[in-house]
Amino acid sequence: MHLARFPRLSLGQFPTPLEALPNLSRFLGGPTLYIKRDDNTGLASGGNKTRKLEFLLADAVRQGADVVITQGATQSNHVRQTIAGAAKIGLKTQILLERRVEKFGEDYQRSGNVLLDNLLGGTVVDHLPAGTDMQQAMETLADTLRAQGHKPYVIPGGGSNPIGALGYVACAEELLYQSSQQRLRIDRIVHATGSTGTQAGLLAGLEATNSGIPVLGISVRAPRAKQEENVYALAARTWQLLGARGEFPRDRVVVNSDYVGEGYGLPTSGTLEALRLLAQLEGILLDPVYTGKGMAGLIDLIRKGLFKKDEHVVFIHTGGSAGLFGYRQLLEQQG
Ligand SMILES: *Cc1c(COP(=O)(O)O)cnc(C)c1O
Repeated sequence: MHLARFPRLSLGQFPTPLEALPNLSRFLGGPTLYIKRDDNTGLASGGNKTRKLEFLLADAVRQGADVVITQGATQSNHVRQTIAGAAKIGLKTQILLERRVEKFGEDYQRSGNVLLDNLLGGTVVDHLPAGTDMQQAMETLADTLRAQGHKPYVIPGGGSNPIGALGYVACAEELLYQSSQQRLRIDRIVHATGSTGTQAGLLAGLEATNSGIPVLGISVRAPRAKQEENVYALAARTWQLLGARGEFPRDRVVVNSDYVGEGYGLPTSGTLEALRLLAQLEGILLDPVYTGKGMAGLIDLIRKGLFKKDEHVVFIHTGGSAGLFGYRQLLEQQG
C-alpha cells in the first residue's frame, strides 16, 4: 500500500497507544479486551477525525485553499478537530451546524465542543434545521465565498470521503505493526460507525494487507442495511484510490445497528452504563454519542456470548469526550 504518495500533514501524535482493559475484561468474564486510544491523537482533545484531517487538509493546502468549510451536528467532534487542524496551518474555517439534537438544553447548545469551536477560532456561519441537505448548503456557501475571491475547500461531514478514509488505512497499518511489536494476536476489531470513513478506511487497509481480521461497526445512526451500503460504497472508493487490484469484497462489511436507541445523539441506558463502566473500572472517558454506544454494543454482545472467551478484541476509542459537557443535565439526572 503506497500511502506515502498521498500528501499528508502532521497534525497529531502517532502511534496512539494500544492498551489492555484488564478490569473491564475481568468484570465481563472474557474475552480479553484492548483499546486503541485514538482519543489521544493530541489535536485539541483528540479523536478519530485527526487522522482523516492529516490527508484532507494536506489536499486543501495542495489546492491552494484559503478557507475550509465543513459541517456537523451541534456537538460535532469532527467540526472541533477541523477548526483546530486548520488553525494549526493558518487556515480559517467556516462552519455550518445542523440542529440534529434538540433535547439537552443550554449545555448542549453552548458547552462541550461548541465552546471549544469558538475558542479555536472557528466561525459558525449558520445553524440549520435537522434534515437539511448539509452538503448542498456547504456548496452554496462555497459559491458565495468564491464570488468574494476566496478559495474554499469543502470537507464533507465527518471527513468521510476516500481522501479522509486514508487516515484509517494508516490506522490499520499502525495497529498491525503494534500488534506484532507487542506480540498480540488481534481476533476482532470493534468501533462506533457514523459517517463511515473510519470503518471504510480500516477495512480497506486491513484488506490490502490481507490480515483477515474482522471489523464490526456499531452504528450510531443508520439502520444496518443502509449503514453497510454506505460503508461498502466508501470502502470500494478508497480501495480504488489506493490503486488496489480487483473489487473490494462486500462480505467484509459488517454493521450492527441494534444500539442506536431513539436516534443520533440520544444516549440509551446502555450508553450511560458503558460511560460509567469505562470511567470507573479503567479511568477512561468515552463519549455520549459514539464510543458510549459502540462500547454498549460490545458489552451487550459479550453478555450474549457472541465472542469466545479466549478471543482478543480491540475496541477503537474514536474520541469525543469533550461532548460529555454538552450532556451535563442528562449525566447528572442519571447519577
Ligand atoms: C465521527 C466519530 C465517530 C464515527 O466515525 P465515522 O468515521 O464518522 O464513522 C466515532 N466516534 C467519534 C467520537 C466521532 O467523533
